[in-house]
Formats: sequence, structure tokens, C-alpha cells
Amino acid sequence: MYQPKTGAPCGCRRGVQRDNCPTCEGTGMQIDFRAIRARASSQSDLGPLPARYEGLQHFPGLPSFALWTIWEPLPGHPVGSTVSDTTIRALGYEPINMEELK
Ligand SMILES: [Zn+2]
Repeated sequence: MYQPKTGAPCGCRRGVQRDNCPTCEGTGMQIDFRAIRARASSQSDLGPLPARYEGLQHFPGLPSFALWTIWEPLPGHPVGSTVSDTTIRALGYEPINMEELK
């Protein structure tokens, strides 16, 4: 099980109290639940796809959609293609905005 520690010792006592302690789950060190939640929310069935966000595309009468320039090839879309969010997700990927990570 994934149990990142905060590095802080838990205030519970060794023994029954520790065994039932929700803060450290019996480890004696406080568990970083924030890290666990962050990890859980970032996990999905979609694979990460490095890309650059190009903005929203609008067509009259249609819902707007996000466009991405992909940094890794997708089936039918070579590197550097501009691909819609919908297409990327349909292929099983989640676009990651690399420009934002710089
Ligand atoms: Zn504890």
C-alpha cells in the first residue's frame, strides 16, 4: 500500500491505540494523506500525453473544444499535429500541458 510519510512522528501511543490510529495507520509516523489524495486524483485510465495547449476552438453552432499540439505521436497523428482534446481522449490519452510545467 502507498503510504507516504510526512516525517512527523505520530502522537499516538504504541499498542492498541496505535494499531487503531487513523493518523499513522499503525506506522508511528504521520501519513501524508494529502500526497495520497493528490496521487489518487492524478491516476486515471488515460495515459499522459505531452502536448502544448493551443486554446479553445470555436465553430458557430458547435460546442467549443480545446486544441493541442502533440509532442508524441498518436495513431494517425504524427508529432506536431494539432489534435482536439476529444480525439486525444478517444485514443486513451490525457494531454499534459508541457508549456505550463516549465
Ligand atoms: Zn498514530
